Amino acid sequence: YAVFWSGLGFELLPGISILTRSAIDHLMLATAFMAGTLLVRDLCELEKLGPTMRTTLLVTSMIPLAWILPVMMLAPRFPLVASEIYHLLFTIPLFAIVIALTVASLRGSKIAMVQMLGWSGIFVLTMHRILRGLSILGDGAFFDIGFLPLMMFETFFTSSIVAHRVLPLRREWDEAVKAHSSLVHLAETDYLTGVANRRSFVEHFNALASQKERRTLHWTLMVLDIDYFKRVNDSFGHTGGDVALIEFADLLKSHCREHDVCARIGGEEFAMLVATPDQAGGVNLAKRLRRAVEDHDFGNETYPVGCLTVSIGVVKLKYSPEFGFSDHYTVADDALYEAKKSGRNRVVEGKALPAANDPRGEPANDNPLGLPSATG
Ligand code: GH3
Ligand code: MG
Ligand code: MG
Repeated sequence: YAVFWSGLGFELLPGISILTRSAIDHLMLATAFMAGTLLVRDLCELEKLGPTMRTTLLVTSMIPLAWILPVMMLAPRFPLVASEIYHLLFTIPLFAIVIALTVASLRGSKIAMVQMLGWSGIFVLTMHRILRGLSILGDGAFFDIGFLPLMMFETFFTSSIVAHRVLPLRREWDEAVKAHSSLVHLAETDYLTGVANRRSFVEHFNALASQKERRTLHWTLMVLDIDYFKRVNDSFGHTGGDVALIEFADLLKSHCREHDVCARIGGEEFAMLVATPDQAGGVNLAKRLRRAVEDHDFGNETYPVGCLTVSIGVVKLKYSPEFGFSDHYTVADDALYEAKKSGRNRVVEGKALPAANDPRGEPANDNPLGLPSATG
């Protein structure tokens, strides 16, 4: 409105008729009034303004904009009536604003009080202008000089309220984001060892299907179970057992590379999803892990657990919609069972899942009998 009211807007639109110019001017004023009224409505606290007052502000805010053009059409034939109706149109939302701000202020809304202060100048000038339009007051250039500075005054107050309302929201948002990420971390992590838990491991597995790394790398699923772990608990107590579990998880983590995931999926049972550049890489890593566990001295001075061994079941990943985590896990777990049965402290590769779309469902690798093979 200020841009057009000052004449600047019309400098940019040369050659328009007086009538169009006047219509634009009045439409801008009505729009500015509507925006101002709606801002009063939206800035006040919900509980301080109440639903009736909010609806009243919404409805009255639209009155000038809705009626301004019909009133202008009336003006050439009934100039006096048109002028009175015109000024009354603005009186309605102006009074709605005054009543709303008074009600909210009486209910203790500081925002309404500050807005009242911001609006006070505009209110006085607009009332003066309306009374002039209704021929109750005489002429005066008072309105024309004061309007723009008072609009700036009001804008300053409104901006302060907006800042006052928005800054705490921003802080709350930042805290919510922080709380959310720590909850996500809690939900995905094993509390004891800090590696992934079963739920997030399965999510990682499922997400692999949509990752492009899967096409260039060979993926292997390993299920690892510490041998005779009950004995650790029997000899060193549950706390000693926990110390060994944490150390075991750290050992697995130290063997993980960029894309690999390591998780604790049961008491002393872990799983790894590893990416290697060649087919045999996953099994070779499992063998290295088995040796690393065997060579490691577990525990500390209080809990000298000493030597532990691990049995590992391994399966190469088959990318096909038919085979999900549980299909691969079953094969790896069968291989792990085989490793336990055949003496523990070894790596067994599970039979490959059948090739995708192969109606015979026969194994697709160099293991035609589909038997688990002890490899380490
Ligand atoms: P196997 O070689 O057949 O795997 O023998 P095992 O003793 O390791 O196997 P079993 O599954 O019979 O026992 C696993 C033990 O792991 C039993 C349980 O008390 C222990 N365990 C499970 N969760 C935890 C844990 O969070 N902390 C500790 N300290 N021990 C745990
Ligand atoms: Mg065990
Ligand atoms: Mg077990």
